[in-house]
Amino acid sequence: MSVPEQFDVIVVGGGPAGSTLIADQGHRVVLVDKQSFPRYQIGESLLPATVHGVCRLLGVEDEVRAAGFTVKRGGSFRWGTSPEPWNFLFALSPELSGPTSYAYQVDRMTFDHLLLKNAARHGVDVREESPALAAVTDGERVSGIRYTDPGGRERELAARWVVDASGNGSRLHAAAGGRRQYSEFFQNLAVFGYFEGGGRLPAPDSGNILCAAFDEGWLWYIPLSDTLTSVGAVLNRGQAARISADRERTLMESIQRCAIVRDMLGGAVRVTEGTYGEIRVRKDYSYADTRFWAPGIALAGDAACFIDPVFSTGVHLATYGGLLAARSVNSVLAGELPEERAFGEFEARYRREYAVFYEFLAAFYDMQQHEDSYFWKARKVTNMRAGDMEAFTTLVAGAYSAEAALVRPDTLAERFSASSADLAGAVERTGAARTPSGERMTELFRAPVVADVMTEMNQIQRRGVGGAITEPPLIEGGLVPSPDGRRWIEPDTAPAAG
Ligand code: FAD
Repeated sequence: MSVPEQFDVIVVGGGPAGSTLIADQGHRVVLVDKQSFPRYQIGESLLPATVHGVCRLLGVEDEVRAAGFTVKRGGSFRWGTSPEPWNFLFALSPELSGPTSYAYQVDRMTFDHLLLKNAARHGVDVREESPALAAVTDGERVSGIRYTDPGGRERELAARWVVDASGNGSRLHAAAGGRRQYSEFFQNLAVFGYFEGGGRLPAPDSGNILCAAFDEGWLWYIPLSDTLTSVGAVLNRGQAARISADRERTLMESIQRCAIVRDMLGGAVRVTEGTYGEIRVRKDYSYADTRFWAPGIALAGDAACFIDPVFSTGVHLATYGGLLAARSVNSVLAGELPEERAFGEFEARYRREYAVFYEFLAAFYDMQQHEDSYFWKARKVTNMRAGDMEAFTTLVAGAYSAEAALVRPDTLAERFSASSADLAGAVERTGAARTPSGERMTELFRAPVVADVMTEMNQIQRRGVGGAITEPPLIEGGLVPSPDGRRWIEPDTAPAAG
């Protein structure tokens, strides 16, 4: 093999996590992806922090707006005790109400390609059809990768940092020295397809994602355009044999079992040709790696962790992980911080974000009272197995020195049950109204488990919208972002808030 090409940073994977690492700090960045873009991916419903925070920081927000994606004001849920759908609207967040309190439903072929082209415009050397084969090490340190170029030749790249953003099928994540730990609580399978001509919720909620629970699981209904809808059923892993016997039948039967989605698809036809014509299946088991970084390598996006899709958190966690990794790489390459300090902050923040969503989603599942359904019974917080809780608690422990309740297994069941009761109470108080009734609906954002989830997302969005801001440390004793959001700095060197 020839002499390795030399870079400062190698990014593996050109999804949202990978293309967040742009080369705007003078570093030489190369990105390899095994596929050719545009390429299909599931994960179409976004959150505002990605759109107004990360996309704005990356300088791609205008282009994303111009793409004409469906505007999503929030989520509508047929979930919990109310027979009527209720709303979770971004505009009712007391902190973020205003002109940027929306996100988009995106065709990921277009969205991911926009982000990847933006990375190339910012100086990243993007190489498609170039699968990474393995990490290369130099002693204890990851020092590069081997990959195959589009001509089929094996090549080597060397760099001071490798960021693995190659998604849930990552072949490199073990190079960080950890292992993937799966949550026993969220072990679902998703079967999904696309429909033309489905109905829409009444305005102004017509762009919302609709998530509707039924006996065997839940369905998502995402309006991708005026006529195209993404529909998926999330089922117990015990349904694997049924799904592999007949995907289409399983999806159609699930739709029939869920009245609200069945009615909305009354006049619709399933797309049967082209990229959207396939019925796909994904395990959406939730997992996190026991290590997010080691000398020379960091994991971002699904390569690091994934959590159940009911609240559309995947792309947020991916772009957040990419942003945190970029700050750490930039600080270390500029010689401003030791790598343990910079990547310690990366891992602590990333695990915190994962942990708050984990608790929130467990509480969310628990709200769906359905004691005689196997799917929902297995997802009651009170039925969570102690071992699962402990495994996950250990996983987040590093980030949570200040949150003793989350790292002590004996108090965990109590904490999760309290969060669930708290969330269910807030939903109850909002009433079933689809259209916002102001005060009542802000109840949701007052629930502590929701407030925790919003903290960092609000901060990212505020930074995107407001430009340079000074933030307090998120983790006790931790770092803060530099005013431009691109690096980490010690809090005592941060400029005073203006
Ligand atoms: P990806 O988008 O998977 O990108 C990884 C890239 O790495 C790919 O382009 C791939 O080609 C490349 N790659 C892989 N292996 C290699 C290799 N060896 N060498 C080079 N390149 C490689 N998220 C949401 O935000 N909203 C949703 O509504 C939502 N719904 C979901 C529904 C389901 C059923 C599931 C399973 C997930 C859902 N998600 C959702 C999650 C979302 O799909 C992911 O979290 C998100 O795509 C992660 O982005 P990423 O950049 O980490 O990885």
